[in-house]
Amino acid sequence: MDNKKECKGCSATVRQSFEEINKQMDEYVKTIPLDDCVEDDEYKKRLQACKDCLALYYESTCKYCGCFVRMRAKRKNKSCPYPGQDKWK
Ligand code: SF4
Repeated sequence: MDNKKECKGCSATVRQSFEEINKQMDEYVKTIPLDDCVEDDEYKKRLQACKDCLALYYESTCKYCGCFVRMRAKRKNKSCPYPGQDKWK
């Protein structure tokens, strides 16, 4: 019997591909009440700003807030956390 304990976060069963993560983000975004969402044009504008931003890590995650930007950018009440400059405005 292998008594070696592995970190759950590093085990193969919890690893997800980029495509799986994107699919889950898409599913999550669909659950946000419409009143809490920005319009599609604004959403695309925000995501483009993130795409052009050096603070975007792994093509998905904001360095400053740790959020998946596809989730954060969809919400009306969220802003870009870039220090001193909201890049979504
Ligand atoms: S700092 Fe703003 S623009 Fe840059 S990745 Fe984060 S949310 Fe996107």
